[in-house]
Amino acid sequence: MTTERLYYDDAYTLHFEANVLEVTVHAQRPALVLDRTYFYPEGGGQPSDRGTLNGVRVLDVQTRPSDRAVLHVLESPLTAQRVTGAVDGERRRDLRAHHSGQHVLSQALERVAGARTLSVHMSETSMTIDVDRVNIAPETLEAVEALANQIVLENRPVRAWFPTPEELAALNLRKLPEIDGKVRVVDIGGFDITACGGTHVAHTGEIGIIKVIKAERRGETTRLEFKCGERALRDFQAKNEVINRLTAALTVGYWELPEAVARLQEQNRALQSELRAARERLAAYEAASLLASASSYGAYRLVARAFARSADEVRLLAQALVAESGVVALLGAAGEKAQLIFARSADVPLDVLPLLKKALEQLGGRGGGRPNLAQGGGASADLDQVQAAINAALTMLA
Ligand SMILES: [Zn+2]
Repeated sequence: MTTERLYYDDAYTLHFEANVLEVTVHAQRPALVLDRTYFYPEGGGQPSDRGTLNGVRVLDVQTRPSDRAVLHVLESPLTAQRVTGAVDGERRRDLRAHHSGQHVLSQALERVAGARTLSVHMSETSMTIDVDRVNIAPETLEAVEALANQIVLENRPVRAWFPTPEELAALNLRKLPEIDGKVRVVDIGGFDITACGGTHVAHTGEIGIIKVIKAERRGETTRLEFKCGERALRDFQAKNEVINRLTAALTVGYWELPEAVARLQEQNRALQSELRAARERLAAYEAASLLASASSYGAYRLVARAFARSADEVRLLAQALVAESGVVALLGAAGEKAQLIFARSADVPLDVLPLLKKALEQLGGRGGGRPNLAQGGGASADLDQVQAAINAALTMLA
């Protein structure tokens, strides 16, 4: 026994009564087969309906391949001869608008862009179609949208029916049926006629709007994401909110945003390189001042000091110090991730790596490097702790 699919002739009725034909299990969940249903089972790219049977939540609706019975998969078991069904109307309305919108968009893509729809992916959050063309120009997509939305505005009637074989043979279908046997045809007001088993609007005006959000090349095909009706409105609201915040923050019109952002990025790059140059100059001055009061290590000058600065700044200072000849620089940066930077000039015959290891024994953390430059750390340490670690390394030079 199979299920009479009432949604074929009526995609609007949400409440109904039905007899239970079979109590079964699907995917480890209790499931019911009814003699009639308004619940749409997943298929043809359209997700299944949700709702309740006698108040028990319907988690999924599937067609059983063996006999095409409709399986209503339930959250908990239900023992009843007769059930009252309630289909989730908001979800149905959303999917109905998107499915009809997809037919209109597919036809508009064929007519305007010569792009045939290869596949459709429909979910609660995203709607995409893959077409057999790449590099569709933005102006072409705009023309596609214009035609699709003209069909929406004309509020054309939509008809779904099972034609006789003779009638079917005479119809110029966009997409040929995937199944043998009785073929259902959906005619969007003479604009698009195709084989389809899904739920559709009664008039195209209910689609609301058809807006392509994104076109993305995938190999030799293009994936178009689009939104219809309330989903398109929510998308518009969210994007408008972001745009308004950005235009207020940058005090420009929305059409000037790309230029304003490009300008900011350019300024940022210029400031970064200016800052780098200024820091290098400052490091050179500071190195000279530190060297003027440096202690001595044999014939060489020694600077051993912790700073409350970023590791990057201390690294620049170490570089400036050892750029001079005859210098040993044992520097540290205090902070959340304290760092030690030990370096020496090219003409000083000293391996700073053992000094770093010694200091890290006290400071904690990891490090490494070469005889002329070694760095490490990573643990949190204040100025005194970093200085103490540097002092521990100094004992190796005594
Ligand atoms: Zn369809």
